[in-house]
Amino acid sequence: MLLTNLINNLIANASLLLVGLYIISRLTKLGVTTKLPLRRQVTISFLLAGLSIVITLHGVLWNAQADFQYGFVPIIMSALYFGLTGVRITYVASILVLPFILTETLLLIAFLDYTLAASVAVAFMWFRERIKPARDIRIVNAISLGFISLFSLLNVSNYNQAETYVMTLFAFITIGYSAGFLLHIVYGGIHKIQRSERLISKYKEAAFTDALTGLGNRRRFEEEMKRVDEEVFNGTQDVALLFLDIDHFKSINDTYGHDAGDVILVELGNRLTQTARTDDMVCRNGGEEFSVLLADCTLSQGFVIGKRYLRQIAEAPFLLPDGSLIDVTVSIGIASTSESKIATSSQLIKKADVGLYVAKRSGRNRLGKWNEKKAN
Ligand code: GH3
Ligand code: MG
Ligand code: MG
Repeated sequence: MLLTNLINNLIANASLLLVGLYIISRLTKLGVTTKLPLRRQVTISFLLAGLSIVITLHGVLWNAQADFQYGFVPIIMSALYFGLTGVRITYVASILVLPFILTETLLLIAFLDYTLAASVAVAFMWFRERIKPARDIRIVNAISLGFISLFSLLNVSNYNQAETYVMTLFAFITIGYSAGFLLHIVYGGIHKIQRSERLISKYKEAAFTDALTGLGNRRRFEEEMKRVDEEVFNGTQDVALLFLDIDHFKSINDTYGHDAGDVILVELGNRLTQTARTDDMVCRNGGEEFSVLLADCTLSQGFVIGKRYLRQIAEAPFLLPDGSLIDVTVSIGIASTSESKIATSSQLIKKADVGLYVAKRSGRNRLGKWNEKKAN
């Protein structure tokens, strides 16, 4: 059989099938859905059997072939939509008509086709009822059926005799399903790996994030400090570290309540992120203590930026849940890798901490430096 002839036949069959289904859905007005009342299900099952026969008949009239036709599809549809009732009616009705339109080999082939379709459909439903992972089974089925179709197309010459047909059919199914399962296992493996990678990065992200403010937490800060040791001290660019601590936060908590305190922490986090540049790193190191690692920044540049932070916080009052506004200030300690006495990240941290202490001691709401007695 010529390939073009085969393709023509397949297209003609598919059109017939679609037109048939369309007519049936128009006739029944409701369209084919699983929610139809029983009487309608029975009617449609019979109509589907009729469609099956028309398609088979068309295959025979076309070129005396009963094998390349989609006569079995209505049987499968009947099963999928109306379950056992549907498949019983459609299968039995169409089988009963077959001897009137086909003889000998063609009859046998069509009979096998229909029976196979009905058994596959019933088996499918049996599996669907008992094994829940429907998506996986659907994937295997789709891959396998794709392979079976491909093999069918490649083995057209074998269709003349019933025995060869049956043999090749079994070969198709075996090879098709083996290929389907194999691909499914490979695909499933890849999918699982991707999923666990996604999960790991999600958990990692969560482990490095402060739940209240959404900023980096202490762990993220420590990671960043490792990076500073590895990259910054060996590189050419400097960084500056700001340690921020809210002034008299305890009395804010005591006066307005812990929830109001939390709101202030969140708002402070927002202001810090707004002021930060893209490469800067803002973390909540714990309690009411925050840090900003200023990228590509010397001590004198850090001073300018640190004062900007002070203004950003002190100049606009914070809104509390009860609608009242309160002034909040922070004290900031600053240190930078541009300073000659600082050669490791722990020295950087230590000096910034001393700077914060100097700022607090000099009256708060200011910037302090470890080697100056008074903050400015
Ligand atoms: P100073 O100006 O010296 O920093 O005074 P302070 O009151 O801010 O310092 P202190 O260390 O005495 O108090 C810090 C307070 O921060 C005490 C604690 O209850 C509060 N705090 C820590 N974590 C949280 C939090 O997650 N939410 C709230 N609302 N308060 C917190
Ligand atoms: Mg504190
Ligand atoms: Mg404080």
